[in-house]
Amino acid sequence: MERLQIANLPTPIQKLDRLGEELGVNLYLKRDDFTGMEISGNKVRKLEFSVADALQQGCDTLITAGGIQSNHCRATAAVAAKLGLGCDLIIRGEIPNHFEGNLFMNKALGARVHLISPEESREEKMDEIVENLKSQGHKPYLIPVGASNAVGSLGYAAAIEEITEQENKLGIHYDTVVIAVGSGGTYAGLWYANQKQGAKRKIHGFAVDNSADTFVETITEILKEMYLNDGLAAPEEYKDILINDQYIGTGYAKSTHEELAFIMKTSREHGFLLDPVYTGKAFYGMVSEIQKGHFKDANNILFIHTGGILGWTHKQREMALKSI
Ligand SMILES: *Cc1c(COP(=O)(O)O)cnc(C)c1O
Repeated sequence: MERLQIANLPTPIQKLDRLGEELGVNLYLKRDDFTGMEISGNKVRKLEFSVADALQQGCDTLITAGGIQSNHCRATAAVAAKLGLGCDLIIRGEIPNHFEGNLFMNKALGARVHLISPEESREEKMDEIVENLKSQGHKPYLIPVGASNAVGSLGYAAAIEEITEQENKLGIHYDTVVIAVGSGGTYAGLWYANQKQGAKRKIHGFAVDNSADTFVETITEILKEMYLNDGLAAPEEYKDILINDQYIGTGYAKSTHEELAFIMKTSREHGFLLDPVYTGKAFYGMVSEIQKGHFKDANNILFIHTGGILGWTHKQREMALKSI
């Protein structure tokens, strides 16, 4: 599979000495929030493969969809602008009063933003945009939500190779990898490459929206397609897809006071900022599970910070007013 080189890779791995000591574990942070500025976060790793595929097919316009503060839409807009491609984003949700954070960035990066209400059909809008583009002589390429299909997920299969190289260089084996799970592609890519290496690591995903059962199903579907694309025999059973759905809180992109307070405490005491939608929930979940003694057999835990800092902007007012 073709791959573009857009992200700043390899991303650094930092040891969280003081927090690890406090929790009685060896804890490391892989800074995938450093993959870029406009394109920062985990989506750019996936887009290196999705957009390579688009170019290979001779497409000139990227179309994708997401919520109001979608990091994926913003990263797609940035990659399109960088490569001189068109970009149409279908963004669904309550239309906000201000174009903040990712929503502003989409505009700044020149994407055509199509806002639709929660009741409107994403598919109908998509068909309409595709027809329109075709009638103007363009060739659109559809990227699914989160770029979470077998092509996009290759970005995180490649991340496992990157981690392996870093392990060899540093002489450390990260036997436990932890990430947030939103549409499943990141998890699927990590699991796939890890499985190919003989399942050396445990991969723990913390769901930020759907139930664990739903995610196991979604991830399994992506994995089946990955094996198929590689011409490899798929396993009979997809074992050890470890998803914890106990830290979703009040729902997708909604934050409890406790979650926000945790994020602020972490940044204050340890000098790095988590985002409220994904990494904040996952990191909170991981720390809580460590405190409950559930990561006892882990020698070295690697939390992948998947970015999302721009999604934070729209919460600033709420945060400031709550004086957390
Ligand atoms: C999209 C996203 C995730 C989740 O990745 P999926 O592949 O959709 O599961 C995690 N963190 C951030 C910041 C994201 O934007």
